[in-house]
Amino acid sequence: MANPSLLILPGDGIGPEVMAEVKKIIAWMGDKRGLGFEVSEDLVGGAAYDKHGTPLHDDTMAKAQAVDAVLLGAVGGPKYDKLDFGVKPERGLLRLRKEMDLFANLRPAQCFDALADFSSLKRDVVAGLDIMIVRELTSGVYFGEPRGIFTEGNERVGINTQRYTESEIARVARSAFELARRRRNKVCSMEKANVMESGILWREVVQEVHDKEYPDVELSHMYADNGAMQLVRWPKQFDVILTDNLFGDVLSDCAAMLTGSLGMLPSASLGAPMANGRPKALYEPVHGSAPDIAGQGKANPIACILSFAMALRYSFDKGDEATRVEKAVEKVLAEGVRTADLMGPDGGTPVTTVQMGAAVLAALDASL
Ligand code: NAD
Repeated sequence: MANPSLLILPGDGIGPEVMAEVKKIIAWMGDKRGLGFEVSEDLVGGAAYDKHGTPLHDDTMAKAQAVDAVLLGAVGGPKYDKLDFGVKPERGLLRLRKEMDLFANLRPAQCFDALADFSSLKRDVVAGLDIMIVRELTSGVYFGEPRGIFTEGNERVGINTQRYTESEIARVARSAFELARRRRNKVCSMEKANVMESGILWREVVQEVHDKEYPDVELSHMYADNGAMQLVRWPKQFDVILTDNLFGDVLSDCAAMLTGSLGMLPSASLGAPMANGRPKALYEPVHGSAPDIAGQGKANPIACILSFAMALRYSFDKGDEATRVEKAVEKVLAEGVRTADLMGPDGGTPVTTVQMGAAVLAALDASL
């Protein structure tokens, strides 16, 4: 069988720096685990704009549609701040998400023991935390019509519309239930069914999909405001949290802070299964291009490395190799290896991006 294909889009700022370390891990998988990938690389964001005058060339879009998974670094930077809205680096990323129809955004919040003291919450609340937020990404209030600022009488009114169809709710619910089956088999769905009709429909459809297709998964429902409270009170009660675009935006950022640094957070955006059964998929760190530290060797490559681990698990069905990568990261952190963003108040000498990548590779070697 042909090797699975992977399109790498390093992007801007620290994107290429962190991606360079991931490329070494991809090569390691081929050399040491017999897990080869057909890797191609292209431009996105400001880097694509500089060459083509557009943040995503049509050829790159076509490649992204054809491969088994896309791995992206980060886009953006002050150099591009004054560009027209339509050619800003972020538009490249939005186009990928839209045209690949990536409706399920997966944001794990996992707290490595060695970093538990970085959280703003107490150690026992976050140590060992491992939850997954599944956010609907392509519909809801960010896309619903009517929208705009209108004049009504002698004042202006701003309008956005929360709109969800049954099929949009059902497909993201299926993503959450499928994920739960690979984890601890629990889904908590969050909306505001007490005050929003779209929330009532959300709750009904999630329950229907559960009863018909996933009765083996434990399902509960929670109002999203209570969900926010529970996330900071006792986050370990959750396994998979399923929620809409707006609440997911807020709740996933809240959950992110449970675990410490932005430099540690991976994500995946998944769409419908392709002909080969694999979902359309884009993996990327949560962080941006970090212009304040770009080019200085200070960036933490772990978020990008863990994004590749998610690709191994969710696109390539290699959960065991994904765990190997995650354990290697855990080992490195337990040994006290830290990039600058992970330095505690006691100080110490931070390692560079390349040194962190090398430490993870050494831990992978030690795992054999
Ligand atoms: P950012 O995530 O780039 O940086 C926020 C802070 O976190 C900075 O101090 C940065 O140095 C630090 N940081 C981020 N990633 C880090 C890492 N891996 N290691 C160590 N420190 C890290 O967010 P921002 O500063 O608001 O945005 C900068 C640019 O990135 C903007 O152009 C923005 O539009 C873009 N952006 C892109 C994405 C994306 O590509 N998905 C996401 C967010 C922001």
